[in-house]
Amino acid sequence: MEPRVILALDFGGTKHTAGVLEVRALWNYSPSAQPGEEITPGVTGELWTAVRREFAPPGSSAQTDLRLMFDMASDLLAGSRPAAIGVSFGGPVDSQQGVVRLSHHVPGWENIPLASLLWEEFGAPARVDNDANAAALGEYRFGAGRGCSSLLYITVSTGVGSGWILDGEPWRGHGGMAGESGHTVVDPSGPLCLCGKHGCVERFASGPYMAADARELLARHPEQGALLRALAGGDLEKIDARMLSQAAEQGDELAWSVLERGARALGTGIGNAANLVNPQRFILGGGVTKSGPRWWETVRAAARSTALPEVEVDIVPARLGDHAPLWGAVALAQDLVTQGSQTERRI
Ligand SMILES: [Zn+2]
Repeated sequence: MEPRVILALDFGGTKHTAGVLEVRALWNYSPSAQPGEEITPGVTGELWTAVRREFAPPGSSAQTDLRLMFDMASDLLAGSRPAAIGVSFGGPVDSQQGVVRLSHHVPGWENIPLASLLWEEFGAPARVDNDANAAALGEYRFGAGRGCSSLLYITVSTGVGSGWILDGEPWRGHGGMAGESGHTVVDPSGPLCLCGKHGCVERFASGPYMAADARELLARHPEQGALLRALAGGDLEKIDARMLSQAAEQGDELAWSVLERGARALGTGIGNAANLVNPQRFILGGGVTKSGPRWWETVRAAARSTALPEVEVDIVPARLGDHAPLWGAVALAQDLVTQGSQTERRI
């Protein structure tokens, strides 16, 4: 009998990842098989038969993205038919139908029936979800959310996105719009966000907005931010979130003031979410979360002071890094395999 494998795909905005692993190996690593076992991303990495990541060429479209991904997957599968396919997509999807609604970065993705296309190409059932939900599912099953029954995963990078797990299941909301924590308003009189509202978490805490805020402060206060200016080599356009945290770490007060404002906004949003839903854990991933212990302390303190004293607020770093959506894709495929075998047993 040929080994039963899972195909996991992550369509990022600029980079695409495909991975193949054996179903049997996955069961051995499943939390229910080995309760209490700590799994680090390095160890779980050994699960994979093969993983490949490629950057999308400039000017790519849905067609070129699909071709690139299908070619990578075919190479990795080397002729074997997958038992199931899980897909994380960096944009809104109709996960019930397996249809991509659109991509905010790449043209041509409007209403692409991705699950059907994968069925035609690989002859296997596929489940598709957006990257935030997939990452939440990945962390829940393989990362920092293991053992929790409810969590909110939040990625803080170019934007602020999130995914819910409630009672052990992804919660996508009516219309699939749950998890827009980035557009939780924390200051209605605050600056304008790209969504058209004022004072959203994303407006304060995302990398590009913090960089823009830093540039504005530098322009207004020529006597401040010497360290940050030096790091940018005088070219303020080079400033990004990483540079901000570097400067803040070296004592640049202007850089820290921007990071602190972002961290406080994020923490306030988290505190509000805690009051509303009371999940067991909040898991934070994305580049901005690498801003050092002071940033984390500020997020936690703001969340703590926003939530009611009786509401527990446990905020931890993500464990699966950039690969969280890919792990979520594995979980989606794993569920298909489980359901498939249950159906077979019933027959
Ligand atoms: Zn907004």
